[in-house]
Amino acid sequence: MNIKTCHLCHANDIYVFYNFSSLYQVTSDCKPWHLGGELILCNQCHTVQKTSNENFQADINTIYQKYDIYHQSKGNEQRGFDQLTGVSSGRTQLIVKWLLNNDLLADSGHMLDIGCGSGNLLDSFSSAYPQWQVSGFEINDKHRITIENKYQKNSFYCGSLDTIDRKFNLIALIHTLEHISSPSETLTHIYSKLVNNGRLLIAVPNFTKNPFDLLIADHCTHFTQDTLVKLLHKNGFMVINQLKEELTKEVILIAEKTSNNNVTPKTVTSEALTGIVNKQIDWLTKITKQTHLLGKKEKFGVFGTAIAANWLLGFESEHIAFFLDEDPNRINTQLGNKPVYHPSDHAFDHSIPILLPFPPSVAKEIAQRLKLHHINCVLPPDIL
Ligand SMILES: [Zn+2]
Repeated sequence: MNIKTCHLCHANDIYVFYNFSSLYQVTSDCKPWHLGGELILCNQCHTVQKTSNENFQADINTIYQKYDIYHQSKGNEQRGFDQLTGVSSGRTQLIVKWLLNNDLLADSGHMLDIGCGSGNLLDSFSSAYPQWQVSGFEINDKHRITIENKYQKNSFYCGSLDTIDRKFNLIALIHTLEHISSPSETLTHIYSKLVNNGRLLIAVPNFTKNPFDLLIADHCTHFTQDTLVKLLHKNGFMVINQLKEELTKEVILIAEKTSNNNVTPKTVTSEALTGIVNKQIDWLTKITKQTHLLGKKEKFGVFGTAIAANWLLGFESEHIAFFLDEDPNRINTQLGNKPVYHPSDHAFDHSIPILLPFPPSVAKEIAQRLKLHHINCVLPPDIL
């Protein structure tokens, strides 16, 4: 018998979302991925997650061997788009601005960014906090030279956190924890690498605000605000502030290492979460049907070139004529051998239907903005 286990609390009391396995997936570095994923909910710790079995681990290994983050925008980090104005600003810059405006850090200290990549957060952070020393950690040493050339010698660690022989005042986990198949153990490790009252800066996707997160094949855990706060609390961290505005599809917060964690966070019920996830799976299934029906009639365009666009490319490639994007780094590139235009471009027929694969409220805002360019928008169904 195939016993499923929660990779956070190790309970075997699991609810399986069987309908999920008929949906195609996509990787976090924006490449189409096969269907057949297993999505589950732990009835003990109420966390939505992928089944961490051999198939899943094999998928993860394949994805990371070819991993190429930001390959679509020529190495520039993902933009936190303001959906109303289209004005974009680097994700890490928004986070650093929030830290500064709310006076959330001391004037100096030593910071470690776990999952630092080529150093986007290190760059934004060190220009805002010049008195701080910064270091980065990665699973391999691809970016060692880039980081060590910019910062002090020995500013780059890789392999295992065990190899780090010092403590930090701040540790950052920006879009990293959802990739880790043992998040509780990792947080215990991080706790031991922080000085007393050291702080943990953390950002994860919030699937309740963005159902497409569930489709990301290499996201082991799908957090909500409640489940993240509860996990942090269980591992000795007390949340002290949360970024609530621009990046609405994420949970971004700062927590403090504490030995006196008295406040128990509110708990969510399994029933409530099961209902939300089932509605999101239904909604994603409806989008696949909507897209399929449209493709039977005519070719169409897709707004966006990130997660949702690459997901559609995985099963509707032959019916997609082109993509539209407002990010200057993406215009005049290609995605799946199809051109990427700006909505104002005259190189495409503006009567062609354009799919907006976004959560309904976001899609409505984009459609409003695209009226300016006379785009024939096809809105997604509502999440019922
Ligand atoms: Zn659990």
